[in-house]
Amino acid sequence: MERMQIKLSECTVFVHWDCCLCGNDFKSGSVMADAFVDGRDYGVVCEECVRGGPEKIRKRMIKRAESLRRRAASLESLASQAIIDCATWADWEELERTLLADLNGV
Ligand SMILES: [Zn+2]
Repeated sequence: MERMQIKLSECTVFVHWDCCLCGNDFKSGSVMADAFVDGRDYGVVCEECVRGGPEKIRKRMIKRAESLRRRAASLESLASQAIIDCATWADWEELERTLLADLNGV
């Protein structure tokens, strides 16, 4: 059986993270929680998961897995059937140039 450990450390980067367990998008504070599975780094863990403890974490992981399965099915369906009408990279670059020019007052 795999063993998951969630360890705390000081956080020195203040950015947005996705919790590796529940998918929650959160902003890091001064404390950082990381999950390790059998000693391997699994990803960052949000405050809500740590606050909830093991049983709530298990429920949040199951809910996230269900959400990911629905998303995966949607992506597979779109990839196999959808007509994809995408802006071009040239469109992207042109809009970026226009926005930067507006920003710089040119
Ligand atoms: Zn979480």
